[in-house]
Amino acid sequence: GANRAKNVLILMSDTGGGHRASAEAIKDAFRIEFGDEYRVFVKDLCKDHAGWPLNNMESSYKFMVKHVQLWKVAFHTTSPRWVHCFYLAALASVYAKKVEAGLKKYKPDIIISVHPLMQHIPLWVLKWQGLQNRVVFVTVITDLNTCHPTWFHAGVNRCYCPSEEVAKRAALDYLKPSQIRVFGLPIRPSFCRAVLVKDDLRKELELDPELPAVLLMGGGEGMGPVKKTAKALGESLFDKELGKPIGQLIVICGRNKTLSSSLQALEWKIPVKIRGFETQMEKWMGACDCIITKAGPGTIAEALIRGLPIILNDFIPGQEVGNVPYVVDNGAGVFSKSPTESAKLVARWFGPDSEELKRMSENALKLAQPEAVFDIVRDIHELSQEQGVLSQISGSLTSSFYIPSPEA
Ligand code: UDP
Repeated sequence: GANRAKNVLILMSDTGGGHRASAEAIKDAFRIEFGDEYRVFVKDLCKDHAGWPLNNMESSYKFMVKHVQLWKVAFHTTSPRWVHCFYLAALASVYAKKVEAGLKKYKPDIIISVHPLMQHIPLWVLKWQGLQNRVVFVTVITDLNTCHPTWFHAGVNRCYCPSEEVAKRAALDYLKPSQIRVFGLPIRPSFCRAVLVKDDLRKELELDPELPAVLLMGGGEGMGPVKKTAKALGESLFDKELGKPIGQLIVICGRNKTLSSSLQALEWKIPVKIRGFETQMEKWMGACDCIITKAGPGTIAEALIRGLPIILNDFIPGQEVGNVPYVVDNGAGVFSKSPTESAKLVARWFGPDSEELKRMSENALKLAQPEAVFDIVRDIHELSQEQGVLSQISGSLTSSFYIPSPEA
């Protein structure tokens, strides 16, 4: 009936790029906005399948032979050249089976993909199961600027783009304006809704109450030139003439234990805090005045919300390249690969160039989209209500929602 809780299936893969963070953010926002109206499941489609499809070739082949007609129709008409490669086709078939199993298990009313490779096959499976008009399918893109074309599929109900740049690419890839929405990157609600006071945070986190603070990090895995930069900051933030520090340093090493222990072993002339994986990043960011990080979309979007000027010191080739101009061209930060240059810049920001720091902080806040995740779930809610009306008109009953396919 109308009051049945709806099922939401989020498709992700925990392969870097903050897909999990986005998935969790969307899940939290559904709970905050709609309580138990929605049941949200996050499914990692690549988990437990190291080595596949090679370890699974035989069954993949059988699957493909069985569905060869559908395969031809679906792929020759809709998808890129890569499917012609047998290896990838086999991979796709394993993955199609997982999607099929996910549909049976979770009976989703809504599917949300937060992964560049999770549009074609899930949509194909929905079509094959005759469910394409009953299940809302949306993509939430988690790259800020440059993104792979496999993110875009004309068969989605919505494609949520984090920036105008991505929306332009979506339009070039034949998505209609009615399919495209630009709300921003979904960030954990604990982040965007938090009311934080810097002085209180510094006390809570046992930081120096007065000295300006720089946060140094490298994504969840603690990547990039973190150690060299930390050392350089240890020098540049110490005023030799006065014999005292002009700033303090917080290094968040994420899951990189080697990094944190090697930094712990060093001696410092300035106040330094070295931490491992932190679960309350909003507090650490809220206690600082600027950040040095690799160009991860999650970290960037969070720093913008906290109004932190950003020094980008590294990027993962491919998906993170475009995040650099996104920050720099909008005046919210700079790019510098050199640890000593970055360290000198922070010293200037904490000294003679404090106006520049302030201006960049204002630009960061202008670029921030703290409400994005809520805008996204509200829009999905509306879509789902429209879809509900449509499927009632067409006479389909929610109780007999999933009819097993004859092949299964
Ligand atoms: N993060 C965290 N605790 C840590 C280090 C990182 O919660 O100790 C979070 C960070 O706030 C961000 C995500 O991990 O949300 C990193 O995502 P990003 O896209 O920046 O880079 P990735 O690590 O996915 O390459």
